[in-house]
Amino acid sequence: MPAQSEIDQSPAALAKIVRDEALRIGFDLVGISPAVTPSGFDHLQRWLGQNYEGEMQYMRRREAAYEHPDGVLPGAKSVIVTALNYHATGKADGSNADTTVSSANGRVASYANGTADYHDVIRKMLKQLGAVLHEVVPGSRTRPVVDTAPLLERDFAKIAGLGWFGKNTMLINKHAGSWLFLGVLLTDVELQPDAPHDTSHCGTCTRCLDACPTDAFAAPYVLDARKCISYLTIELRDEPIPTELREGMQNWIFGCDVCQDVCPWNRKASDTSVPEFQPAADLSPLDLQWLLSLSDDEFRKRFHKTPFDRPGRSGLLRNAAIAAGNSGDASLILLLIQCLNDEAAIVRGAAAWALGKLGGARARDALQKRETVETDTGVQSEIESALNFRLEP
Ligand code: SF4
Ligand code: SF4
Repeated sequence: MPAQSEIDQSPAALAKIVRDEALRIGFDLVGISPAVTPSGFDHLQRWLGQNYEGEMQYMRRREAAYEHPDGVLPGAKSVIVTALNYHATGKADGSNADTTVSSANGRVASYANGTADYHDVIRKMLKQLGAVLHEVVPGSRTRPVVDTAPLLERDFAKIAGLGWFGKNTMLINKHAGSWLFLGVLLTDVELQPDAPHDTSHCGTCTRCLDACPTDAFAAPYVLDARKCISYLTIELRDEPIPTELREGMQNWIFGCDVCQDVCPWNRKASDTSVPEFQPAADLSPLDLQWLLSLSDDEFRKRFHKTPFDRPGRSGLLRNAAIAAGNSGDASLILLLIQCLNDEAAIVRGAAAWALGKLGGARARDALQKRETVETDTGVQSEIESALNFRLEP
């Protein structure tokens, strides 16, 4: 790199340095947006007005901060948006990923089945990009954002020309599809922006809307998060999954890929080049037998500081019990009976539901036995419902 005094400090020249560096660091896509109020802010307000965010109250609490990047980096002038492909069709051992999945397995959304937390991977890359900007423009300020700050990353990706919003609400790039992590670097440096992506390329397609197992789209481009499997398995942490949505969860135990899997724009998407995003052997898929007998210690050892920390052990076991109920696999009954004694009520309730679904004398006997000692009213009604409606002798 030339000496700092020789560097052209025009917004166009600085933008070129940023783009070149982002690609050199390893991002698949990069674009630049001015720091403005995105049109998606109105959409966010309407969306919150419908209570579609469910338990994600942090969005409502920080609503005003989403209005402008100033809310995250005071004095921000430019929004550098990067994207990194996370999709991999292979397992860690080099064989093909099992997308059909046997009855005793649970599925993990592909964004979360890597060997490292994507927040850490992307934040590190964004910091590298920020260091370049600090070197080129001494005294400049930057702030990396990966999911955690009140910023409408997808809107800025669109303004920065990276793609359009699909009817499934994901950002889609014509060449890279939608299996993309977005990472943003806010800066107070003025950079020449890219042209926004103003066209949409969904046409008459409705595959994502039709394929959603829980009918979570209130309309094209509008997700009712309260019905989405990603929300149910990850964000709805301390509550039972609503009964009417449990069968739709199939064997998803952490997130869901369905509305991206079916999208024609993902057919030609290439595999990730990031080694940390290759599926971990024990997550792709996840063994329900192992999960249903997971202790607190084992959970901590395997999942601490991973995205699975969010639902925690009890959320994960609740999800696994529902997947077991949907599996039709009677070999899981004994483990579900053990879960009837779990310390977490949401696990006991889900196990009761699953036993009701799998049926049989052993399941009925175990439910009747638990009924005599159960003190949680929610679990009592799960047991009653399983016995009355599914396990009548
Ligand atoms: Fe529906 Fe799954 Fe997409 Fe959520 S992630 S909207 S449940 S298909
Ligand atoms: Fe758009 Fe069809 Fe993809 Fe949905 S599946 S995002 S409608 S192209």
